[in-house]
Amino acid sequence: MKKLLLLPGDGIGPEVTAVSRRLLAALALDIEVSEGLFGGASIDAHGVPLADAVKAQALASDAVLMGAVGGPQWAAQDYDKRPEAGLLQLRAAMDVFANLRPARCFAALADASSLKPELVAGLDILFVRELVGGVYFGQPRGIETLPNGERRGFNTQSYTSSEIRRVARVAFELARGRGGRVCSVEKANVMESGLLWREEVSALHAADYPDVALSHMYADNCAMQLAKWPAQFDVILTDNLFGDILSDLAGMLTGSLGMLPSAALGAADAPGLYEPIHGSAPDIAGLGLANPCASVLSLAMALRHSLGEPGAAARVEAAVEAALDAGARTRDLGGTLSTEAMGDAILAGV
Ligand code: ATP
Ligand code: MG
Repeated sequence: MKKLLLLPGDGIGPEVTAVSRRLLAALALDIEVSEGLFGGASIDAHGVPLADAVKAQALASDAVLMGAVGGPQWAAQDYDKRPEAGLLQLRAAMDVFANLRPARCFAALADASSLKPELVAGLDILFVRELVGGVYFGQPRGIETLPNGERRGFNTQSYTSSEIRRVARVAFELARGRGGRVCSVEKANVMESGLLWREEVSALHAADYPDVALSHMYADNCAMQLAKWPAQFDVILTDNLFGDILSDLAGMLTGSLGMLPSAALGAADAPGLYEPIHGSAPDIAGLGLANPCASVLSLAMALRHSLGEPGAAARVEAAVEAALDAGARTRDLGGTLSTEAMGDAILAGV
């Protein structure tokens, strides 16, 4: 039996995760569901954001569905004692190198986009972003004082061929199950790591994925194309830094932060980590105003990619779409439904 660990966390995390939990119960799948403390909730109980027992449980699961972590009451602590440190520890322990961020515009929400509705109609992009390498982690890095008294801040952008290939493989595999197209994004014109990226992606494509349509695009052009005609893209494969920026841009084309799920995947049989893009939203925590769709759509990704239930994943996504089509809206979408009532509307469709 597959195992799913829920880590509701802090702020609106428990509120939105509760909706996913109800949905799971309604689906009546053969999945063992358990729940653990994480983030600020774990600090309050155990003094650390990620207890060893919870980490071990996550590693022994097939999928982990997180809510959100953090809040003003824990912000002043030492970094290691902050809720966010628990998240980085969990990502590192799970070695999740491929970050999947879908940017899909539901037809009923086309008006909420920052673009004209006709430009986002049918928008369904999947970003595959490298998550554990590149300039965010490259060595050497630091701030130093030069002999002339000037200070210098520096980072290193670095990718090895195996780091590039393992994330590119994820993108090609996923493209086969959807539009069949991968656009690989870098700056091969000005960066050596970008040049290697392009060479390695092309070589992997020629060897193992000739059936997938591969194109290459410079990151600056990609930003322009996303704002101009985003529906041209299927899967966008890119590095840690460009993926961070471009997937945020694309997310806002789809409407609300409350709609955006994500997944982080590691090696083939390793557990995946699933979470809404949004944070703990302390400003609305405890008020029942949070949109549960990002959590529910993250659950759908877990069902598809880690729990062997692609059919159930499609049912969940269709139920979200049906609820939106029927006019169900939380406050962030311009409506008045509570988190729970939005959950009811989604549950009615599964
Ligand atoms: P973090 O640092 O934890 O990512 P943040 O400051 O980036 O937090 P969020 O917690 O994501 O931001 O919240 C940003 C804004 O979006 C807030 O005003 C919040 O209320 C709103 N928001 C976030 N998630 C949701 C949601 N699921 N439903 C409704 N509003 C949301
Ligand atoms: Mg944030």
